Amino acid sequence: MSSAIMETYKRLPVAFESGDGAWLTDTQGNHYLDALAGIAVCSLGHAHPAVAAAVSDQATRLIHTSNLYEMPLQEQLAQTLCRLSGFDRVFFNNSGAEANETAIKVCRKYGHDRGVEKPVIVTMDGGFHGRTLATLTATGNGKQQEAFAPLPEGFIHVPYNDVAALEALAADTSIVAVMLEAIQGEGGVIIPAKGYLKQVAALCDRHGWLLVVDEVQTGLCRTGRWFAFQHEDIQPDIMTLAKSLGNGVPIGACLVMKETAATLTPGTHGSTFGGNPLAARAALTVIETMESQKLDQQAAQLGASMLDGLHSQLAGLGGVRDIRGKGLMLGIELEEECRELVEAALQQRLLINVTRDNVVRLLPPLIISDEDAGRIVTMLTDLIRDFVSGARS
Ligand code: PLP
Repeated sequence: MSSAIMETYKRLPVAFESGDGAWLTDTQGNHYLDALAGIAVCSLGHAHPAVAAAVSDQATRLIHTSNLYEMPLQEQLAQTLCRLSGFDRVFFNNSGAEANETAIKVCRKYGHDRGVEKPVIVTMDGGFHGRTLATLTATGNGKQQEAFAPLPEGFIHVPYNDVAALEALAADTSIVAVMLEAIQGEGGVIIPAKGYLKQVAALCDRHGWLLVVDEVQTGLCRTGRWFAFQHEDIQPDIMTLAKSLGNGVPIGACLVMKETAATLTPGTHGSTFGGNPLAARAALTVIETMESQKLDQQAAQLGASMLDGLHSQLAGLGGVRDIRGKGLMLGIELEEECRELVEAALQQRLLINVTRDNVVRLLPPLIISDEDAGRIVTMLTDLIRDFVSGARS
């Protein structure tokens, strides 16, 4: 029977039926170790008991009302996110792309409110911000953009991790904001030089540009801090979140500082589902669990030990270009394209991802045990050794 689903994904030949922590079970009863967590979504693992209980309890009370009414759970979630991140106000959506759309609208209106007729947002080569038209345009990947022209105006791209390239734009009075990821995820786990974000923040301050940090993938303990910008001791003007905020229940958020909080006024933006009671309750439970289990520290420690393990087991192996990571966001860059490693790993019942053609990306659940983290390192390094020797013979 042919599929009734649009073919926008090349799906792997496996369907999962249930999960437990870092493990998934397929429809044949086989168990898989999950080193991807639904692409950084299920940070608390699968079927987390507290999330499951909160979602089922909330479903029996109230799933949805409307943003036309007050929502105590949404308010509580916003207060909690602001306490953890230093931001002042939050707008809730349902995905990362939508959270970034909100950020883009805030920046543009902020520009208009200050007399900038055609506000421009600077984004980064190799960045990724989503698949809607504006976020696709913000995304620095020409290959994906051509088919969807004409794209919205108002974006320019500069190389990532290059302060001088930004500095060179200083005279352009149409620029209102710089938007970037703290670590580029889809772009290949690219970690900028220490001090880069701090320098970008200083530059933004100097020129009156807003700094928007997309933490859709890096946020919420993933990199060993609550938010990756906190490694650099800065306070951006805007931050976006999604992915792990609901541990799989769709929710996104755009957080802003006071100066930009009044930019969007009633009627200028909205979302039917954004921050509804079900999603807000799930997200509150996720954050409570992350706080009580100190998952920021857990990600930092486990990530460091996985990185050590990868370095020592792959030391000196030809074909491996780089091994890098921060917390539980890890990348192994090979010299050759290595997409076939995903299927090879699947056959060994390990779930991994390859991004930018030659970077193996690991984003395991933050609750993973030491033993399972070690198992991922051993399984993966065996696979990489086989792949590299095959590619070379
Ligand atoms: N921003 C970043 C940094 C991402 O990694 C992603 C998704 O991978 C997005 C935005 C888009 O999020 P979503 O797929 O929820 O729209």
